[in-house]
Amino acid sequence: MALVNEHFLKLPGNYLFADIAKRVNVFRTTRRQAGLISLGIGDVTQPLCPAVIEAMHRACDEMGTDEGFRGYGPEQGYDFLREAILKNDFLPRGIHLDIDEVFINDGAKSDTGNIQELIRWDNSVGVTDPIYPVYLDSNAMIGRAGTKDDEGRWSNVVYLPCTAENGFVPALPDRRVDVIYLCYPNNPTGTVLTKDELRKWVNYALKNDTLIFFDAAYEAYIQNPDIPHSIYEIRGARKCAIEFHSYSKTAGFTGVRCGYTIVPKDLTAATLQGERIPLNPLWLRRQSTKFNGTSYLSQRAAEAIYTPEGKSQVKETIAYYMQNASRLLDTLRGLGLEVYGGENAPYVWMRTPDGVSSWQFFEQMLYGAQVVCTPGVGFGPSGEGYVRFTAFGSHEQTEEAIERIEKWMKR
Ligand code: PLP
Repeated sequence: MALVNEHFLKLPGNYLFADIAKRVNVFRTTRRQAGLISLGIGDVTQPLCPAVIEAMHRACDEMGTDEGFRGYGPEQGYDFLREAILKNDFLPRGIHLDIDEVFINDGAKSDTGNIQELIRWDNSVGVTDPIYPVYLDSNAMIGRAGTKDDEGRWSNVVYLPCTAENGFVPALPDRRVDVIYLCYPNNPTGTVLTKDELRKWVNYALKNDTLIFFDAAYEAYIQNPDIPHSIYEIRGARKCAIEFHSYSKTAGFTGVRCGYTIVPKDLTAATLQGERIPLNPLWLRRQSTKFNGTSYLSQRAAEAIYTPEGKSQVKETIAYYMQNASRLLDTLRGLGLEVYGGENAPYVWMRTPDGVSSWQFFEQMLYGAQVVCTPGVGFGPSGEGYVRFTAFGSHEQTEEAIERIEKWMKR
């Protein structure tokens, strides 16, 4: 008899966006005439830029020739892309990494979920709250998170609340934690950490022998030149942090699939006997066993983002989305609502009016304005009483949504 991994049974039945889809479907069947606008799920809407399309066409043509055909590639990615990453994402920020510290992935979701395989099941885990659900669900799947209570809190997880009351700056834990997940710019709150604030985390990690998993999936949206794009901008971070990047939101790669993970060679974790084990070769071993690399086409497409044309085209699309963010911020503020984020991230985080719950507000706006947002509580207990709007719609959709929200709120 095969015994099931019962930790899976502790997971909430529905992934947040499936739950939203279910409620939207109920709305659609009862109100057939009404057109909906979604500012909910964080998927992009604008097409790939020309530099990326041209690179993909070229790579495709190459694959159709005897000389250019490629089969399995290196699991850790092609050097042409790893070199472009070092040269463009890190060297200009004074960060010197070795090419072997860069692992190309098929998007940050897989690696942020898989990375916990490197550590023992009984490590303690800390997360900022609210948070991208993948971090906790992947830990729950192997039993590290414990059990979930009615409020959605895992018993073995240290929650670090990020709310309007603390300016969305998480306080350092009041105890030792083995592993901490940080995501900046943050999904869902759209807030960022300054260099000084991030330095506190690196210093905490070095002092407490804590491993930081730093998700930088939205770094391309940072507008303020003083906000760090990478945790390695902080001295000492290469001894305590793994960093995840994604081209999904940077360049519209949600359907192409490519990103990368940095595992510094200086980074170690301990055995029970106290021996220090470098994590870089362990991750390579893990990837070589379970991953056959990101497609050549995707990697050539990603390389094109770093060409002069690619850079300016990608920048234009980011500016396009950030215009939506600023329109949403201004409008909601103008309506007297409390809004956060949206300045260095494509998400606007709003406190619900009159203390209504996240799901209540979601339903009210769905039926009142035919606009879909994401209930904040779906990202963790401290998200209760907030909702998230994404800036990833088209200008037309966003303007129409804004108009509907204004009309509905003023009624
Ligand atoms: N990390 C964060 C914080 C995200 O919000 C997302 C996607 O929404 C991802 C990682 C995953 O991105 P992808 O797997 O598309 O690279």
